[in-house]
Amino acid sequence: MFENLSERLEKSFKILKGQGKITEINVAETLKEVRRSLLDADVNYKIAKEFTNTVKEKALGMNVLTAVKPGQMMVKIVHDELIQLMGGTHVDINIKGNPAVILMSGLQGSGKTTFSGKLANLLKTKRGKHPLLVACDVYRPAAIEQLKVLGEQIGVPVYSEEGNNDPVKIALNAVKEARATGKDVVIVDTAGRLAIDEQMMNEIAAIKKAIDPEETLFVVDAMTGQDAVNTAKEFNDRLNFDGVILTKLDGDTRGGAALSIRTVVSKPIKFVGTGEKLEALDVFHPERMADRILG
Ligand code: GDP
Repeated sequence: MFENLSERLEKSFKILKGQGKITEINVAETLKEVRRSLLDADVNYKIAKEFTNTVKEKALGMNVLTAVKPGQMMVKIVHDELIQLMGGTHVDINIKGNPAVILMSGLQGSGKTTFSGKLANLLKTKRGKHPLLVACDVYRPAAIEQLKVLGEQIGVPVYSEEGNNDPVKIALNAVKEARATGKDVVIVDTAGRLAIDEQMMNEIAAIKKAIDPEETLFVVDAMTGQDAVNTAKEFNDRLNFDGVILTKLDGDTRGGAALSIRTVVSKPIKFVGTGEKLEALDVFHPERMADRILG
């Protein structure tokens, strides 16, 4: 078990107090602990560095050195700053259109299809919506099949077109179908690749342009740590997405990707995936994630 940051900071300040000399240099030592903790949690190193600089300024500004419990005060500053950087509060998805169109993007294996099913299930059972799932991965029949299986499990229809290899047309037809059949949310699952490539980006950009979704969501595996940031940046540069879905938080990652991605792309994380089951979905709470990152 990691000793949590709170304990480590308290300890470092106790030692320093014992020496009777708490100085700016000692604060720097404590900030090293903060940075180490962020790096342990997989936060990108540049972001960890910027973060500790901000915390340092705040700590000195708030005169943490003269506080009765400087360790606790440092932890509070770090915690508050993490929450603020991750957006402060939860941001919901926009499902106001009729139908509201939601486009999924992300690399293959990130959890797009699973999340599409989870979201459809949530909207149906908790928000009284009538979703239509759309299979737009024309390269992998297995992906279409996977979505159909999910759709069946949750009682949500899945739109697909066998033999049509144009994902833009399929997506457009699906929106028409939703209108014709009274569906109020259309969730479009798209093809991913193992790594970013131009064709995939062109394709999803073309789908986005054609269907003009209320929400474009970028799905990313929290376990991919540092890589997650680069992928997020490339997708955002191309798609200007509206929100991030962080999957596989049931793994042993401390979730530093949340902070890195939020800092780099400035888009809210909207949901987190916490398992393979359809119910394993939570709305994103910056405060909970801050606790998790701090360990
Ligand atoms: P896609 O290629 O992006 O559509 O990814 P999939 O939805 O097929 O997911 C890839 C794998 O990750 C599957 O085995 C899923 O069961 C699994 N998966 C998806 N989300 C989660 C999650 O939140 N936690 C865990 N542990 N596994 C997940």
